[in-house]
Amino acid sequence: MAKKDIRKIKTSELKTWLEEQGEKAFRASQIEDWLWKKGITHWDEMANLSKELRRKLDEEFEIRKLTIATSQKSEDGTVKAAFRLYDSNIVEGVLIPSGERMTACISSQVGCSLTCKFCATGYMDRKRNLDPAEIYDQARAIARIAETEFEHPLTNIVMMGMGEPLLNYANVMEGINRIISPEGMGWSPKRITLSTAGIAKMIKKLADDEVRFNLALSLHAADDEKRNQIMPINETNTLSALKEALRYFYQKTKNQITFEYIAFHGINESQEDAAKLAKFTLSIGAPIKINIIEYNPIAEADFVNAHADRLDAFKAYLESKRLIVNIRRSRGKDIDAACGQLANKQKPAEA
Ligand code: SAH
Repeated sequence: MAKKDIRKIKTSELKTWLEEQGEKAFRASQIEDWLWKKGITHWDEMANLSKELRRKLDEEFEIRKLTIATSQKSEDGTVKAAFRLYDSNIVEGVLIPSGERMTACISSQVGCSLTCKFCATGYMDRKRNLDPAEIYDQARAIARIAETEFEHPLTNIVMMGMGEPLLNYANVMEGINRIISPEGMGWSPKRITLSTAGIAKMIKKLADDEVRFNLALSLHAADDEKRNQIMPINETNTLSALKEALRYFYQKTKNQITFEYIAFHGINESQEDAAKLAKFTLSIGAPIKINIIEYNPIAEADFVNAHADRLDAFKAYLESKRLIVNIRRSRGKDIDAACGQLANKQKPAEA
């Protein structure tokens, strides 16, 4: 019989199993402490358990690990890691050092079911959802890279890697809750951001669950016709549905909302587009911020990044409406680690 993944069973089940073995139930919290907080991957490292119990655990359960298949460092310091999962699937995570910030960008699915035209992951199939431990382990692994490569602790975590987090809702929430939990990484939710292509129903669910982490919405066009063209998910999650969901989200959580907007040359960077973007974002009735992200060219599509003068005029219009706008330069482009470039294209590992 296949061994069970110990991090997939509930604490109550682990307690029952321990009691069946003639062990005390409090061992469950010791075991979970080793697994989550200390991140060990071998039973023999569980120093406060008897040899006999470690043997029984090994017979019954497995500890699934995330291993680093390859890792590449960009000229700008960005590190991309390809993580191998227990079933040999690969997902990518990125560490982005920038001044005092050390940001981990982590994945939520193997591939993606959305087909955003400008995103390399969108051209892969969605193979499966990541489980909570796989989400958590990426954050831990990247935190370790930050400490070993830069001697600096991780400061931020963004769910902006492969996949659509809100289409893997339960596992993403459980993974984030572990990152926040004192029994996990003990992080503040304020340093975590979830980015979504916009699944209205699930944005409302985030509100009902009263999340305390930050929300970012990949908008990229504030016009349904244009957004349908580049993000087919908009056909069923229209701007008006998103507006309603975001208003609800703000009313319930009082969290600021960030909008991500790639300015594509000749598509969504005119003054009229800026006016629509201002109108849409101001209609949410929440404190908001707009991040204009540089387009990172991908092989599958032929979009072009907006020209500097157009971008300046676009930004100026938004600022004239008192909106907070940041232009985000992309990082890690030379190693395909930038936003939208994650598609498991590692250079062959060096021998
Ligand atoms: N599915 C989620 C999270 C992953 S994408 C989402 O859509 O938000 C993270 C961010 O990178 C999103 O804002 C996405 O639109 C953006 N992105 C995708 N492809 C890109 C590209 N080629 N260049 C720049 N940003 C891109």
